Amino acid sequence: MIRVERKITEKAKKAIESLQKAKSKNNTYNTQEVNVALKEMFHGKCYICENKEITSYQIEHLFSHHEDKDLKYDWSNLFLACAHCNNIKRDKYEPIIDCTKENVDQLIAFRKKGYFGTEEELIFESLDCREETINTQKLLKEVYYGSTPQKKMEAKILRRTLRKEISKFKEYVREYQEAEDEEKEDLKYLLKQQLGDSSPFAAFKRWLIRDNKEAYPELLIYINMQ
Ligand SMILES: [Zn+2]
Repeated sequence: MIRVERKITEKAKKAIESLQKAKSKNNTYNTQEVNVALKEMFHGKCYICENKEITSYQIEHLFSHHEDKDLKYDWSNLFLACAHCNNIKRDKYEPIIDCTKENVDQLIAFRKKGYFGTEEELIFESLDCREETINTQKLLKEVYYGSTPQKKMEAKILRRTLRKEISKFKEYVREYQEAEDEEKEDLKYLLKQQLGDSSPFAAFKRWLIRDNKEAYPELLIYINMQ
């Protein structure tokens, strides 16, 4: 989970318009325009797990609307989530950090310790004690590990996707470390993308660099500029 800027783009303007219309007619908030704008804003990623390999997108209300029309049709309350995360969050975890307003990966540390088969563990550490931060930390834990048999199965698939992405990222970092001059510049560009907003599981990747800042001080700039 990372910060995502809620920019007023052309697509967002159309989404807001469609929400106003839907609200006045009591139609669904799940309009074509809203879906298109959310996909653009969240770079096709679920805002909670940061997975991009999603087969089922859902529109998530940061604050559950419970048929409150203002919350239900409010553009700033709508987020793009995968079905797995949306089903887990519901209104069980509320409030959580609003990722359009705060730098989530500066409030929670995202770490993957160990390796597959040898005590692999995902650790989410809250860096402050606010209710929002603690709830987000608990939500992340449930998303990546699940609590029901079905959710545990889904979480396993999610962890597998995360593992693949992190291995790939580590490989790029290793190559970067060993590269020289021109090649180093190319890899730097690649790493910048890997640490950027549209990259899957960016929070984990950023913490890998933060935790090794002595080794790659020049890469920190790509995190701090986000
Ligand atoms: Zn998700």
